[in-house]
Amino acid sequence: MDDVVIIGGGIIGTSTAYFLSKEGRKVKVIERDPTYKTASFPLSLGGFRRQFYQTENILLGKFAREFILQIPNLLKTEKNPKPTASMVPNGYLLMFGPEHAEEQYKALKNHKKCEAGTKNIKGSELKNFFPYINNEGIETATFTDNQSEGWIDPFMFHGALKSKAMELGAVFVKGDVKSLSEIKAKIIISAAGCWTKELLEDIPVEPQKHTVFKVKCPKHIPEMPLMGDLTSGVYWRPEGKEYLAGSPKSVFNAKDLEPAWEDFEELVWPALAKRIPSFEELKLTGGWAGYYDCNRLDNNAVVGKHPKFDNVYLATGFTGRGLMQAPGIGRALTELITTGAYQSIDISNMAVERVLGKEARTEPYVL
Ligand SMILES: Cc1cc2nc3c(=O)[nH]c(=O)nc-3n(C[C@H](O)[C@H](O)[C@H](O)COP(=O)(O)OP(=O)(O)OC[C@H]3O[C@@H](n4cnc5c(N)ncnc54)[C@H](O)[C@@H]3O)c2cc1C
Repeated sequence: MDDVVIIGGGIIGTSTAYFLSKEGRKVKVIERDPTYKTASFPLSLGGFRRQFYQTENILLGKFAREFILQIPNLLKTEKNPKPTASMVPNGYLLMFGPEHAEEQYKALKNHKKCEAGTKNIKGSELKNFFPYINNEGIETATFTDNQSEGWIDPFMFHGALKSKAMELGAVFVKGDVKSLSEIKAKIIISAAGCWTKELLEDIPVEPQKHTVFKVKCPKHIPEMPLMGDLTSGVYWRPEGKEYLAGSPKSVFNAKDLEPAWEDFEELVWPALAKRIPSFEELKLTGGWAGYYDCNRLDNNAVVGKHPKFDNVYLATGFTGRGLMQAPGIGRALTELITTGAYQSIDISNMAVERVLGKEARTEPYVL
């Protein structure tokens, strides 16, 4: 019998393999597609932030940054002596219209309690900090300018975690697990992302297709943070000399991962050109689509032991924030499994019982 088997070698499975291996557990990770063609993590935008509503999400975002800064020391291996996640700490700017302002003021109290270090300004003050923005329709905005938020390269991050997990003894094998009953292990962890329902049908997490566009603009603003305009739902950030921009439209039950090209002209370009006037001159250069592991109950993660089994744990439902939460979740699951309780960040509110009992704890700041 195996000690720990993790189903799914994406970012959550691999981070959990790393933290458990560090504690001396013998971990086997089973992944059905080691090229990760349709897995969520390589198709993500790589963003990490602490600007959320729910306390757990703020704290997990803070830990992401702490962990990313320590990658050169923590994830160094013989094969990968200089690991990096290619961090760009440009920060985040979230902009809210009058309809979201009240909720945002409540969220700010949580930011303060968690010492998130975010700054809040009136929409009318935006130009003092970001002169290239048109503030029309923006009531309030939050941002960081102390390198505490930004983005990373998801594939390099995954590679660094995997290399270290393997050096610590974790084994990665190719395999498609059809049922949990196939696995004989002391501990089974489902880290199957948006496909969790195939193994655990009572978990309300489903693939939700999101499209990202790549665009070029003659005026380049390399210092631009990752920006989310909550009045349109469009978000964007620089990517080298170009930009990436996410569509506000998402689709359940999508047949394939063909990008929703029509969204660009209908939704994304008008919203970008309204907010950043120089984006009027944008040229579309590419794009892709990927699945969010969307928790349809409340857009919040589901993490912990499944109460219907003696030895099954799961982590899924990250709804657009699984990359940044991977270090905190890997550590939290390891604490739960090895000590019986969370030690660092208490994520009991994400428990499986919450979704089985349909107790929604909605996270509104989904981009
Ligand atoms: C367009 C887009 C933008 C995003 N932007 C961000 C962002 O800026 N910041 C952020 O933090 N997050 C972002 N995300 C979300 C993030 O990518 C996901 O939440 C995260 O990747 C989830 O990680 P995971 O390991 O659970 O799932 P995945 O990365 O999908 O990995 C799951 C793995 O499990 C394997 N698997 C599934 N079932 C089985 C089985 N039965 N047997 C064997 N293997 C199995 C799959 O093949 C897959 O490789 C974004 C996602 C998308 C699509």
